[in-house]
Parts: sequence; C-alpha cells; structure tokens
Amino acid sequence: MLDLSAQKISPVMETYGRFPITLVKGKGSYVWDEQGNKYLDYTSGIATCNLGHIPEAVSEKLKNQLDHLWHCSNLYHIPSQNELAEKLTSLSCHDQVFFCNSGAEANEAAVKLAKKYAKDQGYTNKTDIVTFTDSFHGRTGTTMAATAQQKIHEGFTPLTPGFSYLPFNDQEALLTLDEQKTCAVMLELVQGEGGVRPADVSWVKQLSKICKEKDILLIIDEVQTGIGRTGTLFAYEQFGIKPDVMTLAKGLGSGIPVGAMLAKESVGQSFKPGTHGSTFGGNPLAMTAALATIETVEKSDFLKKAEKQSHYLFDELKKLETQYSLVKEVRGKGFLVGVELNGDAKHIVKALHGKGILSLIAGPAVLRVLPPLNTTEDEINHFLSLLKDVLNEQEDAS
Ligand SMILES: *Cc1c(COP(=O)(O)O)cnc(C)c1O
Repeated sequence: MLDLSAQKISPVMETYGRFPITLVKGKGSYVWDEQGNKYLDYTSGIATCNLGHIPEAVSEKLKNQLDHLWHCSNLYHIPSQNELAEKLTSLSCHDQVFFCNSGAEANEAAVKLAKKYAKDQGYTNKTDIVTFTDSFHGRTGTTMAATAQQKIHEGFTPLTPGFSYLPFNDQEALLTLDEQKTCAVMLELVQGEGGVRPADVSWVKQLSKICKEKDILLIIDEVQTGIGRTGTLFAYEQFGIKPDVMTLAKGLGSGIPVGAMLAKESVGQSFKPGTHGSTFGGNPLAMTAALATIETVEKSDFLKKAEKQSHYLFDELKKLETQYSLVKEVRGKGFLVGVELNGDAKHIVKALHGKGILSLIAGPAVLRVLPPLNTTEDEINHFLSLLKDVLNEQEDAS
C-alpha cells in the first residue's frame, strides 16, 4: 500500500529548482500568487506569453474552439493548420511548415529534415550538424547534443553522434566548416539561455554565404527570438539573411504549447508521408491560439509600439552600467534583454521577488528580462525603480 504520510520525495520529478512562489492567476503583465501577492511578470513565462497573460483576442477564439473540436490527429485535414501555415509562410522567407508541440521538437524536426535533404541530394556523407558554443537547442537526446554546453550533457553520454561545435561569433572558425561532412549549421541569432548574446550581423552574413557555397543548410533556432521578441516578427529579418530552415515555439501560441519548423520549398519537399510526424502536432486548439497570436502581432503598429518601449528600457538600463559597479553590461535585442552583473544573478532575481517583480537568469551572472511585448512605459518605470532599489541594497550590503 502506498503510504502518503511516509512519502518524503516530491511526486513531481525534481528537474527544476523552483522558487517558493505558487502562481494561481495571470492577466496582462501581472500574475498573482496563492496569498494574493501581485507580481509584474518580466519573464513572460520564459518568452512565451508575448502578449501578456490571457490576451483577449486569443482567449475568445480558444473558448470558441473548445466547443468545436480539440483533437483529431493528423490523419485528417485540419483547416486551421493551412491557415496558420499560409500566414507564417506569407510573413517569412519560407514556403512550408511542420507543426509540433515544443521548441525541442521543432529543432528535432529541423535536424531530421536536414539529414533527409542531404540524402535526397545524393550526398551520403553529409550527415553532421554544426552548432555554436553556449547555444541552447533543447533537452531531448538530439537537441541536447546540439546544445553546446557541457553542463547540459553531464550524465547523459554517449550523446547522439554527428554534432560538433564552433565558437560563436568567431569569423575564422567558419573557415573550418567541412562541406564533405556537414549537412547543416544551427544557431540562435540572440543566444537566450546561454547568456543573452546577440550574434554579429557581419558574422551571420558570412556564415550564410559560406553555407550557400558549401551546400550546407542554415537552420535558425527562433524558438526564443521569434514572434516579435527581438523587435521584428523574426530575428533573422535584422541580419540580412534568408535561412533555409527556421524553428519556432515559445511565443507562437501565447502560452498554449505549439512548435513549428519552417523550410523553403526545395528543402521542405524532403519530408514525405511517413518520414516524420506528431500525434498532437498542429491540433486545432494550438492552431487557434497561434493564429490569434500572429494576427495580433502582425497588426501594423503592434511591433512599432513594442520597439519604442524596448528602446526606452534599453536606454534606461544602459545608464546603470555607469551608475552601478554591479552592472557590467546591458545587451540583447528588442525585449530579449540581458544584464550581465559583476556577481550572482539569482541573488538579484530573488531580491526582485520580494519587491513583486519576476525576472530570469541566463547563466550565473546574467539577469534576463523578458517583458510582454505590450508592456507599458509605466510598467517599465516600475520595474526600473525596483531594480535600482535592489542594486542599491546589494551595493550597500557589500
Ligand atoms: C527554450 C528553447 C528551446 C527548447 O524549447 P522547449 O519548448 O523547451 O523544448 C530550444 N531553443 C531555444 C533557443 C530555446 O530558447
């Protein structure tokens, strides 16, 4: 018999070190805990709730869909998949979409597609994928191997073979790309979990050029940077490139799980019936949430407003570099903001909790700030004033 009173371990596997906060409600830029404390949510559920919590445009359509059809599998046609795919391809340089449920799955699909494409082109040895130091591409077997961070690999060897890593933003390293072996490179244009590090535009252009010359596919992981997070609908628009493949997830469904892998026609054609699939992928609820999300973000002034607010936040944060010895560098793009500290970022995150602000870390020394894209100047000012309070307290204490 299971004696619950004797149970010492958590019934939920402890894959996360959680903060002692239990959230029960969200609306707009705010969330509430079970004691009724209100927090300004500058995590956006890790770049997921880009329109804030429970945005009306998405909520209404989801409620309506709930009364029609939740799930039917991909053995049948799902009109909202076509609608969303048409929307995404009209707004990107891609022609076809595969739908799944998460970022890791989208990257898995991209890796499979790249291998299949190389085979279809008649290359038998072009099987390897190159990624970059401090990247983050997911936690599944393959996407963990794609993630070039030792701490993510520990305890899980042997890793999925065929991945190798080059230093990020290093021009010379690109010359070592081996066209005999490499079918694709995959990268984030602003590294998220790896420390909020933007790629250099000239480096990315060079990479794209080399990929074309060597018949290597360029896969851009926009799981975190996509859906307006960096100021444009997709980050690649700011880098003067047209990637062969792009992956999306986090912000795509406003918090409803959904992932997507987009490819140019010539590449997407390598997926045929039976080559890949997902039971839940592209289900009517997820498609409804994603469609309503994109329709909101593509409205003419939505991203313009977000850009204005993000410039304001950046300008104000930049001032802290000279005002506080704790603040080393402010970097990022749009509302993907990193504040590198001369000290422990988790400490600051916890101190901000006490003041009613939720924020994230990206590595031990980087505070990661991910406001909803429709946050207001008042909210930004509220955040800035409490962050300064925390920085003052920390510097006074040391
Ligand atoms: C979060 C993230 C992933 C993994 O997404 P999951 O939905 O957690 O599987 C992959 N790539 C990037 C850049 C991410 O930020």
